[in-house]
Amino acid sequence: MADPILPTQARVVVIGGGIIGTSIAYHLAGAGCDVVLLERHRLTSGTTWHAAGLMVTFGSTSETSTEMRKYTRDLYARLEAETGQATGLAQVGFIEVASDKDRLEEYRRVSAFNRLCGVDVQEISPQEVLDLFPLAKIDDVLAGFYVKDDGRVNPVDVTMALGKGARMKGARIIEDCPVLEVLDDGRKVRGVRTAYGDIACEVVVNCAGMWARQLGKKNGVTIPLQAAEHYYLITEPIAAVQKHWPVLEDPGCHGYYREEGGGLMIGLFEPKCAPWKIAGIPEDFSFGEISPDWERMGPYVERAMSRVPITLETGIKKFFCGPESFTPDLRPCIGEAPELRGYFVAAGLNSIGILTGGGLGRVMAHWILNGRPDVDVTGFNIDRLQTFQATPEYRRTRTVESLGMVYQCHYPFRSMQTARGVKRSVLHQHLERQGAYFKDVSGWEGTDWFAGEGETPDPGPLSWDRPKFWSHWQREHEAVRQGVILMDMSFMSKFSVEGRDAGRLLNYLSTNEVDGPSERVTYTQWLNDDGGIEADLTVTKLAADKFFVVASDTCQRHVETWMRRHFENGHAFVTDITGSYAQLNIQGPKSRELLQTLTTADLSHEAFPFRTARKIDLGLAEALCLRITYLGELGYELYIPTEMAAYVYEQLVSHGKAFGLVHAGLKALASCRMEKGYRDWGHDIDNTDDVVSTGLAFTCAFDKPNGFIGQNAVLTKKGKPLTKRLVQVLLEDPEPLLFHAEPVWRNGERVGYIRAASYGFTLGGAVGLAMVDGGTSPVTPGWLSAGRWEVEVGNLRVPARVSLKPLYDPENACVKL
Ligand SMILES: Cc1cc2nc3c(=O)[nH]c(=O)nc-3n(C[C@H](O)[C@H](O)[C@H](O)COP(=O)(O)OP(=O)(O)OC[C@H]3O[C@@H](n4cnc5c(N)ncnc54)[C@H](O)[C@@H]3O)c2cc1C
Repeated sequence: MADPILPTQARVVVIGGGIIGTSIAYHLAGAGCDVVLLERHRLTSGTTWHAAGLMVTFGSTSETSTEMRKYTRDLYARLEAETGQATGLAQVGFIEVASDKDRLEEYRRVSAFNRLCGVDVQEISPQEVLDLFPLAKIDDVLAGFYVKDDGRVNPVDVTMALGKGARMKGARIIEDCPVLEVLDDGRKVRGVRTAYGDIACEVVVNCAGMWARQLGKKNGVTIPLQAAEHYYLITEPIAAVQKHWPVLEDPGCHGYYREEGGGLMIGLFEPKCAPWKIAGIPEDFSFGEISPDWERMGPYVERAMSRVPITLETGIKKFFCGPESFTPDLRPCIGEAPELRGYFVAAGLNSIGILTGGGLGRVMAHWILNGRPDVDVTGFNIDRLQTFQATPEYRRTRTVESLGMVYQCHYPFRSMQTARGVKRSVLHQHLERQGAYFKDVSGWEGTDWFAGEGETPDPGPLSWDRPKFWSHWQREHEAVRQGVILMDMSFMSKFSVEGRDAGRLLNYLSTNEVDGPSERVTYTQWLNDDGGIEADLTVTKLAADKFFVVASDTCQRHVETWMRRHFENGHAFVTDITGSYAQLNIQGPKSRELLQTLTTADLSHEAFPFRTARKIDLGLAEALCLRITYLGELGYELYIPTEMAAYVYEQLVSHGKAFGLVHAGLKALASCRMEKGYRDWGHDIDNTDDVVSTGLAFTCAFDKPNGFIGQNAVLTKKGKPLTKRLVQVLLEDPEPLLFHAEPVWRNGERVGYIRAASYGFTLGGAVGLAMVDGGTSPVTPGWLSAGRWEVEVGNLRVPARVSLKPLYDPENACVKL
């Protein structure tokens, strides 16, 4: 075969011709972009060729993911007409069955959200499940969830159709051409190297599937994904099986079922899975299979077959195992790598690459061409992941859990159980002695709640109801509101920013004035040019050329990258000091009194007003003390050099006895901040939101001489009627719980959904934040009070109150004591 002839340059080079690479090339070419796709061997030869081809829009409580699925199904439906290449799309329908009460609750909640997003999902009876899939066993089925327009595609055909469509729009697709390395100049991408020559380009998109990690590593780009064994079997023909039967899925039995070759395909997601080739994926693995592990899989296969009992007596034609990439949190790795400009990644599809591939291609193309995505990517952006998550041991350990998570019941308070303990606060053992129940907080062991001194925490069974630790949570919440609590939040991301230009540059990033007087904490937003929120954080000015930036754990790399990329031409240096300081929160109405017993600094309101930041003595030690709160009370954040943290903690606990000091965890943080309506980036606000509709315009200092990034975008919104606004929602009934994604109704119509929620022990009910859409009506206090509000919780519509102002302490009196 003749060597491929390569262009010498292109704007974008896509590496890898699986479903994702071809979809991105298709969408880039469609937007008129000069794009080349290089495939190591043949299109689909990695994972795509052997996918089962389920095309399902049901099942996610992420708006972004649901929109991607819907877009994908629509795209696959029109590709054949556009390209002349069939996709094998068969909209035979899809049924998810629930055979226990917890899954029933989950799917009802998911259905409500999916319907809000425009997915036509109906709850059907067991008999209706049987009517649609007559070989299913339904004696234990409680309900089915049916989407009649879902179904399946042929993954190879759909990839070929995307490839053909991409070529028709001007993309060049070159097979048998592995990318040997990506070329960069230390800061940004400048091209790719192949055995047949180099191609100069501005952007590469690493779509190399399970090879993406090892390819990224060559340029220092961390892509923490890992291949794992993934199985399906195909039975011998079964006379009764009909081609038009819907795809059936029963996560409780670990299986999905669809017609294949006159028999059934049974796909499996076993609860404990097996990572494949930790050390590295062989470069020459192509259209490859893995020898199935019959012994490990036997019990799962049997259980899966029990849902369609005839399969237990039918021969197995093929037991197939192929590798698929999984990520630490079961969400894809997409976006521009923090390490290198112009290096984009779209990999780690966690077994839904076919059914999200079309939408993902559209999102990536938009992101590449416009510099930012047009959907919420806070949960998907590669910069949420950290470098330690790519270590062999991390991948070996975590991947055992992640594939199994696909079919677990997605309980609200579940934390990943594997790959734990890697990051611990220096106070870990002290907290353990107080009965801390730990959860995974970006790799840290963060205390969720405390069982009490000397007690062993027992979280009880996972459930959708009030958890067993309810009384501990309530006690901690009430201590925040009425007494004083100690909360270890050492996992918060902390940065030192120093240099002659540090103040000027930070001020330009920040909506608020952060370069005023020293010893001042400022709550601010960072926006992009379109006014979308990129970060929500505090900036503290310590001295003219010295600043302290604190953000939440999830956006550590996002915030750091944002600063580094904006400081390139200035005299400002960013150091991540997260691990150098413990963070202890002393919060609550009695916090001043307690802290005053330990320091000679005057903590009176006059001497140490709200937003003051000062180094203070604490007995023998010193700490940076910020008078600020995320709980809505008088309170202080202490940033203590880690080596002094245990001493300070011991002093606080001992002096705290007289004040009834209570240890509090993240559950109390969540419930207190939610009562106060404090925002949390990545949960209730995201990159597609602006400060005006999210109620954060108060952070904008429009009179700063040099303005701030995104100022013009904010000004175009400010003062205009807003048809979408973030509101606080409180259920009138104290019993039902809110978690996330519950639709919000006004006068019998859906107008939004709960983005994040908790339980308001002070307010007396579940409380959340929702972006509500008034359609043609501006969302004003009058419009809110004129409506009859409800929240859809499972199959119930629960009356609710809504408010633009915080329902707890709207005048901030408690904070400014
Ligand atoms: C058994 C099984 C069943 C599945 N069923 C479904 C399903 O029903 N529905 C669904 O949505 N998903 C399903 N999936 C998941 C789906 O197949 C994947 O998510 C998807 O195929 C991943 O696509 P990709 O483009 O990221 O990776 P790949 O298809 O692996 O593509 C990556 C490509 O990159 C190429 N490449 C690698 N290195 C280089 C290099 N250096 N230079 C050039 N090219 C390179 C490879 O050759 C490969 O072609 C299933 C997966 C498995 C294993």
